[in-house]
Amino acid sequence: MSEKLSSKMAITLEDKYGAHNYHPLPVVLSKGKGAKVWDVEGKEYFDFLSAYSAVNQGHCHPKIVGAMIEQARILTLTSRAFYNDALGVYEEFITAYFGYDKVLPMNTGAEADETALKLCRRWAYDVKGIEADKAKIIVCADNFHGRTISIISMSTDPESRTGFGPYTPGFEIIPYNDLNALAKALEDPNTAGFLVEPIQGEAGVVVPDEGYLAKAFEMCKAKNVLFIADEVQTGIARTGKLLACDHEDVRPDILILGKALSGGAYPVSAVLADDEIMLTIKPGQHGSTFGGNPVAARVGIAALEVVKEEGLAERADKLGKLFRDEMKKIDSDMIELVRGKGLLNAIVIRPKGGKTAMDVCLKMAENGLLAKPTHDHIIRFAPPLVITEKQLMEAVGLIKQSVLSFG
Ligand code: PLP
Repeated sequence: MSEKLSSKMAITLEDKYGAHNYHPLPVVLSKGKGAKVWDVEGKEYFDFLSAYSAVNQGHCHPKIVGAMIEQARILTLTSRAFYNDALGVYEEFITAYFGYDKVLPMNTGAEADETALKLCRRWAYDVKGIEADKAKIIVCADNFHGRTISIISMSTDPESRTGFGPYTPGFEIIPYNDLNALAKALEDPNTAGFLVEPIQGEAGVVVPDEGYLAKAFEMCKAKNVLFIADEVQTGIARTGKLLACDHEDVRPDILILGKALSGGAYPVSAVLADDEIMLTIKPGQHGSTFGGNPVAARVGIAALEVVKEEGLAERADKLGKLFRDEMKKIDSDMIELVRGKGLLNAIVIRPKGGKTAMDVCLKMAENGLLAKPTHDHIIRFAPPLVITEKQLMEAVGLIKQSVLSFG
């Protein structure tokens, strides 16, 4: 492609030739570096979405992109019909990094969630001894685990779910952050697992009560039920610890990761578990042509190394506290609530004079900061974790200026 597209043309093309399954802000990006992105007209923005927490290590991190290019020049894909010389090295690295016996590599978050569901069911039949086809997995209302048929079958979001039935059976939905409901659901002897997001990201950064995860884990253990954490959005330093479960010293039986596992460079996801669970799946029973490809393996190692080398968890913890303090100081009745952990935060917007969270986001974009509403009245703020304190304060100024412009 020789000529650069204008924003208007790029939007027209997507609208005409692409499926209408997203409703993006009218900003067309063509470049990213660290915490910033630029549109095709050269306007600069702070990225406060980070591709839904995939770009924790910052846009186009040189170490990650370097590893990707280097490997792409040598060997990109073998499929798992053969071994390759990058996968085993990655598997050893990532299992040591998170402290599990084994990893099952996939590409997207939804695929990793699907993998976890299959592993859980298989463990239920082969190890726990649940009668065939009777295994139940408990999930939480307002969850977000992706958009495949099985995943929307356990969703309570009408937008994701309605009109796509018939649904996959085998799930019981309980309210989030409700230990009594969990206790009741766990009474069923056919319960195989409890799948939970340590913080519900898509629901609007809903942080459960302190102690919820630890207690839920303990209750699952008492009933020989697998505790499955979907850390696709919360994991890899986003909330101020390597994993959000680390805040409560919980080690999930099955850990689901995606997004920042590649720093946004490439689709890389993974499921981690110990042998008792992982080895229930035998050759031919699960897989993916691209899962565990050499480029993903090299990118995964580089992305995880960056997290430790640059102290991103500590940085998210420190800057997250500063961010929430600054948000709470904004004197506007449009801000109903500020919540979050580390650099995964949200403000709940009280509409004013017909102006909603979308209007605030459009105003912020005009002022040079990108964020997207979730569920009409909530704005999530999740910048790349490499953002500096000076940049964060500059961004806080833009948010303040935007909110206050509505009076
Ligand atoms: N799980 C959680 C917690 C998520 O936030 C997401 C995406 O936002 C997914 C799973 C799905 O990931 P993907 O879009 O890569 O399939």
